[in-house]
Amino acid sequence: MVEERIQYLFLRYPDCLYGFTDISYSRYAEHYKSALVFAVPYGELLTMEAYTEERFERGIREARQTEREILSHIEEILDAHAISYLIPSAVQNNEEELVAPFSFKYAAVCAGLGWIGKNDVVVTEKYGPRVRLSAVLIDSPFAYGRRITESGCPDSCRKCVEACPYHALRDVQWNIDVMRKEMINYRLCNQKRSLYIEKHGRKHSCGLCIAACPFGV
Ligand code: SF4
Ligand code: SF4
Repeated sequence: MVEERIQYLFLRYPDCLYGFTDISYSRYAEHYKSALVFAVPYGELLTMEAYTEERFERGIREARQTEREILSHIEEILDAHAISYLIPSAVQNNEEELVAPFSFKYAAVCAGLGWIGKNDVVVTEKYGPRVRLSAVLIDSPFAYGRRITESGCPDSCRKCVEACPYHALRDVQWNIDVMRKEMINYRLCNQKRSLYIEKHGRKHSCGLCIAACPFGV
């Protein structure tokens, strides 16, 4: 069975978290029943004391390499079972709205991997927010995870909010009905990170609001 083969695959990647969610909420529901969502921990689980942008970026690159390996194995499995699937792009569709065609964050919450922290990223119990998310839309049912609807951030915690040099985070506690724009000035965050494109050939990774999180270290 395909679910067992995917479970077996993840035994080879014991550090990764994964789960399945029904995607009837999504515009992709017409073609795919489920999403497999997985979280690869960054190469280094950095704290504020150890943080440099270069180390943070390197950790993301290492996670991206593992993510590619896993995706290629999943493609082999699904092809072998002749199951239709789509690996949605993680790239945001434009610099104005800054939304990807399929939200990995929302799917991760629905699959039970974590909640959205005050830093507006998925926070897992095991690694905090130091994970790279990926998803595969699959036209097959699975045993679904338990959807998380409330934040696990302590009300009093403001570490990520205080770590942001641009005050882009609004100190808003997430629940499933809270919108992104209520939590973060995402245009400001993107604008500041984009200032480095000329220097680095890419946006600044800026993981300060991630490195500050006490979960996972
Ligand atoms: S990524 Fe950087 S700029 Fe954006 S909210 Fe986090 S700390 Fe602020
Ligand atoms: S630093 Fe605190 S408030 Fe921010 S995401 Fe982590 S636990 Fe939540």
